[in-house]
Amino acid sequence: MTDSNAPRLFVHNASQLLNPFFRNSIPGGRLSLEVIRDGAALIEGDRILAIGPSAALRRDERLQGSISLDVSNCVVGPGFVDSHTHPVFASTRHEEYEMRIQGASYESIAAAGGGIRNSVRTLRAASELSLLARTRQHCHQFLAHGTTTIEAKSGYGLDLANELKILQVIDHLRNDPENSLEIIPTFLGAHEIPDEYRDRRGDYVDLVCDKMIPMVAARELAMFCDVFCEAGVFSVEESRRILKTAESHGLGMKLHADQLTHSGGTRLAVELGAASADHLEYIDDCDIALLASSSVVATLLPGASFHLGATKFAPARKLLEAGVTVALATDFNPGTSPTVNMQAILSIAGSSLRMTPEEAFAAATLGGARALRLDDRLGSLTPGKQADLVVYDVEDYRLIPYHYGMNHVRAVIKKGRIVFDHGSLA
Ligand SMILES: [Zn+2]
Repeated sequence: MTDSNAPRLFVHNASQLLNPFFRNSIPGGRLSLEVIRDGAALIEGDRILAIGPSAALRRDERLQGSISLDVSNCVVGPGFVDSHTHPVFASTRHEEYEMRIQGASYESIAAAGGGIRNSVRTLRAASELSLLARTRQHCHQFLAHGTTTIEAKSGYGLDLANELKILQVIDHLRNDPENSLEIIPTFLGAHEIPDEYRDRRGDYVDLVCDKMIPMVAARELAMFCDVFCEAGVFSVEESRRILKTAESHGLGMKLHADQLTHSGGTRLAVELGAASADHLEYIDDCDIALLASSSVVATLLPGASFHLGATKFAPARKLLEAGVTVALATDFNPGTSPTVNMQAILSIAGSSLRMTPEEAFAAATLGGARALRLDDRLGSLTPGKQADLVVYDVEDYRLIPYHYGMNHVRAVIKKGRIVFDHGSLA
């Protein structure tokens, strides 16, 4: 069935058309990538009608009246789904980056009032309008680098008013017709213990559970709740209480898990049936087996290890070989991973996680969609899904991670509309 009133777009002559899929043909488990040579996609309204070789689709009678988009010598794939970002912040932390290069540790910078606490201070002082202007720029940059959907966390406010301020900025952009980037909001009030609660941390956990989560849920400002479960931040018991409260208010669950130490976050994610466990630099073999027996996605953020100059990366090969669904995300944030460029993450995933371009591309698209439980709508070009496509100025997708640090995006199509055109495509 076609809706004859909706405009139709025929994207054809792609040197490769990429379509990630779950190997077991049901959501979960390992991902693969179908590569269609001389590929094409027929789009109607905001949906994908058909994909296949260009020659085969040219015989499709639904082509009649469609707008033709010749993408010869280009790769076409689904837009990146960046399932872990912290995009609302008031200032960069490039001074701390320089201090780290000169030998200061992340921990010593944090102890001197830097790190997340630095971002909290500047965010609390910033107006909602100034945050909105800065975040709007970030949204444009995400799109320009081929990302069509992000998850966006709060977590630099750490009190009711400022956490709401961040989520309102996100909500504003979600409803702004001038912003084409799709945003999935996550409440991360449990990102850090704020300075004023240092000697009464229990009171802060009470505040998160009794005030913040109910208000965020009532105002429909978040779809997920996340907790930084780590030694010295939030314990497994505190994280469990916060996430169970969030779940009772209808929010999905995510965890920053086993990032700096093996602290039990992954096991908690499996116990609670969270959508994803993120970071996993210090996960052990036992927890990898647990993840493999669950539907929790392992979201890897190698940009953070790279930018910190760390030698410890998540054991991606073990996770993949155990059959865990792996997602890749930027972790875009002002402290440890200040990039929106998922193409650069594919390069780091190759060189530091030993993920092949095929594995990395699938993880950054369908893996990310699965980590947000939106894989029925996003993350691949399967007919019926939302028409979020990226056209890359390369003939082979393996050139995208190979030429690291570059932006290969020529055009971006979101919900069937060209929203970014770098190379006078239309
Ligand atoms: Zn994070």
